[in-house]
Amino acid sequence: MGPAEEGFVRRQVQWVEDGLREAGRKRSDLEICLVTTTSASSDPARALDDLRSWASTEARLIADFAELPPGLERFRAEIEGAKAGYDYSQHLSTHAGHQRTVSDDLARALAVAGNPEECGRRIAGLLSAGVDGCIFPLMGGGRLERLRAAMARIAREHAGKLPRTREELYDLPGVGWKTAGVVVNHAFATPALPVDTHVGRVARRLGLTRQEDPRKVEEELSSLLPERLWGRAHQLLIWHGRRTCEARRPHCSRCVLLDLCPRRGVKESD
Ligand code: SF4
Repeated sequence: MGPAEEGFVRRQVQWVEDGLREAGRKRSDLEICLVTTTSASSDPARALDDLRSWASTEARLIADFAELPPGLERFRAEIEGAKAGYDYSQHLSTHAGHQRTVSDDLARALAVAGNPEECGRRIAGLLSAGVDGCIFPLMGGGRLERLRAAMARIAREHAGKLPRTREELYDLPGVGWKTAGVVVNHAFATPALPVDTHVGRVARRLGLTRQEDPRKVEEELSSLLPERLWGRAHQLLIWHGRRTCEARRPHCSRCVLLDLCPRRGVKESD
């Protein structure tokens, strides 16, 4: 969930808790995390510029809410302007023209920016709004450093061009075997069957493998199919795992593989 505005976070947590109550489930059944980006810098203008693109996307996403919390209602006209000016072809690009639709005040309200102490206080406030944790998708966990290191290696060793083989991509800082497989599949039409959590779970439930290690699952699945079907199988298994064979709630009764599946009727388990 996002954006990083305390009133909004509280409201969203309340919706989730109401839904759990109606479904007869416990709060502890779900982990609720706030996804937000943060930029801590002693230069306030730079901190804001780092996340303005993210903030404009958040503004676009909440523009259709009939009611906004008091902390955001005063930005209503600006948020509607962000929707009108949003260009999905540029989406989260840091060069997106639509980032100019949000003012400094609105960017500050939607994302976490400021000096390290201000950011710390803000995050503490967000954590007190009922979420179990925060996920910082762009700047946290050393991702920015890995991204910079990968860019430097691409510039130095590959003449500024993205390498085209999975092995070369995997050799870059911060790039895992799965990510490298997804990139060669989509960018270079090179057959690969990368295994994420959905692919692994669905493959095990269908009895296609007993392996837990994604590399071994990939080896076994790849040996079952001709190369030309690897990319398609990767997509189908992911979407089946996201939409039907969900980890916690597999929808066996409406599954097209019901008759073939050795685990039909499985409950929350792998
Ligand atoms: S029948 Fe159930 S366990 Fe088997 S693939 Fe379908 S949803 Fe998953």
